[in-house]
Amino acid sequence: MQDVIVVGAGPAGCAAANILAGSGKAVTVIERRRLPRNKPCSGILIGKTLELLREHFGEVPRAALCTPYENRGMVFFDDDGKEFCFEQKGLNVWRSPFDFWLWEQAATRGANLIEGRNVTAVTQGDGFAEVAFADGTKLRARFVIDCSGAAGGLRGRSEGGRDLVYTYQVFYRGSSCLDPHYFYALTDPRFSEYDAWYNVKDGMPVAGVAVRNPQNAVRFHKAFFEHLHTEFGFSVTRAVREERWVMPHIRPKCSVHCGEGNILCAGEAAGFLNPMGEGISSALASGMLAASAVVNRKQDALSAYTASVRELQEYMARQWKLLSFLSERFRGMRGE
Ligand SMILES: Cc1cc2nc3c(=O)[nH]c(=O)nc-3n(C[C@H](O)[C@H](O)[C@H](O)COP(=O)(O)OP(=O)(O)OC[C@H]3O[C@@H](n4cnc5c(N)ncnc54)[C@H](O)[C@@H]3O)c2cc1C
Repeated sequence: MQDVIVVGAGPAGCAAANILAGSGKAVTVIERRRLPRNKPCSGILIGKTLELLREHFGEVPRAALCTPYENRGMVFFDDDGKEFCFEQKGLNVWRSPFDFWLWEQAATRGANLIEGRNVTAVTQGDGFAEVAFADGTKLRARFVIDCSGAAGGLRGRSEGGRDLVYTYQVFYRGSSCLDPHYFYALTDPRFSEYDAWYNVKDGMPVAGVAVRNPQNAVRFHKAFFEHLHTEFGFSVTRAVREERWVMPHIRPKCSVHCGEGNILCAGEAAGFLNPMGEGISSALASGMLAASAVVNRKQDALSAYTASVRELQEYMARQWKLLSFLSERFRGMRGE
């Protein structure tokens, strides 16, 4: 019997493992892929994320930084194309070395890793929780923290209902007149069913769209590409690669699923994501809060954890308010 099993070695899982191992708990992280693994992402670390990292992990290593490494904020274009610039100092990183660095910090503190193994189920037992693998093997711990992300589909919010948004982004060789130090997001319904975005990584422009129906992704992406070309002089010599992924669909109530019994859910598995798609800060914070609840109040960890995430939900709600100001689609979701 372990103290804690963490499923998933993304930011939520590594943050949880880092706190648990640092507090002397026997913790094993189970990751279905081999590390380092890539996570489709824009890789923008906002100020809030950097604060958490400095406090718990240290400075982001150079090996994880993209060019330009400095992110100066976000530029939003509302449904009518009106521009709003939110200046904030952040970083531009590649997720593969960034997440691997997070894992290394947790490992240095004593967290164990089982990689290349897919957890197929997490179940509650009598005073313990259990994970199962496809070959029938089981591992038991006092607590399991499900950090399997939006695509994980274990005990978290992604199980069953799977209320998801589908993302499609393409990396190019090319250029535009947009300042590469900013991340651009557009809510115009001609370009996406959620939002569309543009950013630059190691000199490669990236254009992405989020849709409710994955079959619509390429059509919306084409319209967005044309818009970037006409309005911002976007021209490309070739497409380098495509990435498709999912995110939780965040609704106005910003509800999350913290878990049940001895199973706690953190990060996107619980439904934490700031409505415009920034999720690393809430993944780190919720992973740490889940771990702290296990360390400090093991008798009723779930209640302690649920109470401690209220601030994160309030932050999501504030972001939602901003989006509903920018976009009719988001305003429209209020009535759902
Ligand atoms: C296109 C896109 C752009 C984004 N841009 C940004 C951005 O610029 N900034 C930002 O802050 N956020 C961004 N996000 C959101 C951010 O990527 C996520 O919120 C964040 O990665 C969530 O972290 P997590 O630890 O909860 O999950 P993940 O990072 O998804 O990690 C989950 C881990 O669990 C593993 N796993 C899943 N299922 C199992 C299983 N059954 N058994 C074992 N292991 C399993 C996975 O392999 C994975 O390693 C973006 C998301 C997308 C899709």
